[in-house]
Amino acid sequence: MIWDHEHETMPRDDLRRLQGERLRALAARAHENVPFYREAFDKRGLRPEHIRSLDDLPLLPFTTKSDFRDHYPLGLSAVPLEQIVRIHASSGTTGKPTVVAYSAADVDLWSEVMARTVTAAGVTRNDIVQNAYGYGLFTGGLGFHYGAERVGATVIPVSGGQSKRQIMLAQDLGSTVLCCTPSYALYLAETAEEMGTSLRDTKLRVGIFGAEPWSERMRREIEDKTGLLAIDIYGLSEIIGPGVSVECEHQCGLHIFEDHFLPEIVDPATGEPLPYGEKGELVFTTLTKEAMPVIRYRTGDITSLNPEPCACGRTMTRMDKISGRTDDMIIVRGINVFPSQIEGVLLQAKGVQPHYLIIVDRQRTLDDLEVWVEVSDEVFADEVRQLEALEERLRRELQEVLGITARVKLVEPRSIQRSEGKAKRVIDRRDVYSG
Ligand SMILES: [Zn+2]
Repeated sequence: MIWDHEHETMPRDDLRRLQGERLRALAARAHENVPFYREAFDKRGLRPEHIRSLDDLPLLPFTTKSDFRDHYPLGLSAVPLEQIVRIHASSGTTGKPTVVAYSAADVDLWSEVMARTVTAAGVTRNDIVQNAYGYGLFTGGLGFHYGAERVGATVIPVSGGQSKRQIMLAQDLGSTVLCCTPSYALYLAETAEEMGTSLRDTKLRVGIFGAEPWSERMRREIEDKTGLLAIDIYGLSEIIGPGVSVECEHQCGLHIFEDHFLPEIVDPATGEPLPYGEKGELVFTTLTKEAMPVIRYRTGDITSLNPEPCACGRTMTRMDKISGRTDDMIIVRGINVFPSQIEGVLLQAKGVQPHYLIIVDRQRTLDDLEVWVEVSDEVFADEVRQLEALEERLRRELQEVLGITARVKLVEPRSIQRSEGKAKRVIDRRDVYSG
């Protein structure tokens, strides 16, 4: 189902023209109203009139998370306070949150892209939407609320937490749609089991899950345990909140609402734009947002774009599920390597445990990549010949995925140190900056 046929199925040539016009207007507006952008333009010798079409996008400066921090709280606004009707914020990694502002037109735009989002997941006015995203400064709760209301569905604004009550409400009110993070969906499934029931015994039929990265494996687990069709969404408060992209019923990539949010993929190390299909950092320009427009925002998320037509009829570019963060990226022999790529290979191999270590070293001038991975007790008891064959197979698969060679070392079960927090997967022994 499609909410806005005119835009969501627009011929790509028309779309490009519309994006070009909007980009031109944005460049003028940002230069005129946001001192940060005026300075960034000036530094590059760039005038708004240099931006004539979409082809001129790479001329524009990037915006980063730290630019939000440096202009905390509302220094990146393009409108006076009297036109701001809403403020949201996301938690920063250090101290102050990232604050974002909306005009009345922005809230309307947000409702519209969220209506597209829930419609893509199959939600109609006949549905009862249990919205278990948090309400508050976080954009998840209100974003879904607006979208579901706009399509005329019945919204239960239950917010997160109180899991037993969530299940009771789903049963008693006959909720048909669940909105929450994928990990909370799994938690609810387990809570239902503890209560001697199952989400399969409710009327819930579709789940719209996002706000954290999740794998295909997790999707299968959720669909298995809950009986829901699990739809992936993507968004971030700097761009608008949820409503940036969503999967259609074919679950083959997330359609980006690119008449409003212009996507690019760039090389995370150099910032150079990369062609369709290549993996790199996702960058967004908000083409229509009023209160806090952003130009070429570096999301830090790794994915690729696919502009091929989709069976659903939408012409909007699809992005792959997020496969990693640029913060985790290492550059080995000039090639960008993501721990998630290595993990993907290892997790698919039989007899290998999800405990590994990536070691980068530099012998004289050449970088050296080594992957240590634990094997299971059974495999460890195998003959040396079989262990060598496994090593060789992993080495070949890593080379195929990474495009460079890596040594693989199988290690004893339980020999890689465990950590309680985020596991330390990469040891970089290169002393690149001295000498
Ligand atoms: Zn589609």
